[in-house]
Amino acid sequence: MNWDNYPNFSEREFNCKHTGNNEMNPGFIARLQALRTEYGKPIVITSGYRDPSHPVEAKKRKPGAHAKGRAVDIACYGAEAFKLVQLAQKHGFTGIGVARNFIHLDDCVPGGGFTRPFIWVY
Ligand SMILES: [Zn+2]
Repeated sequence: MNWDNYPNFSEREFNCKHTGNNEMNPGFIARLQALRTEYGKPIVITSGYRDPSHPVEAKKRKPGAHAKGRAVDIACYGAEAFKLVQLAQKHGFTGIGVARNFIHLDDCVPGGGFTRPFIWVY
């Protein structure tokens, strides 16, 4: 994967905080870059790739979207969260999780344990 294609992101932002591994999906990052380009402001990734051994994934029945390299959590709040949720739908993200101070975005497809499109709160 050539990270030079994604001018607003660097590989290390997406490394698993448990193992350091990074298996982000190139199509997902391209989608995220398109969102970021239209957003026009920096975004802070608080979680990208999560290895199946990451404690959050390990306690699930099956590893989730972060373990597929198809999800990020973005620190945001209020009007910025509103805008990001709007852009996420425009750019084809199919899983949107809304928390008090971050949003989760993924582009998983239905099947394999994923119901999509889907929006939820934490
Ligand atoms: Zn997430």
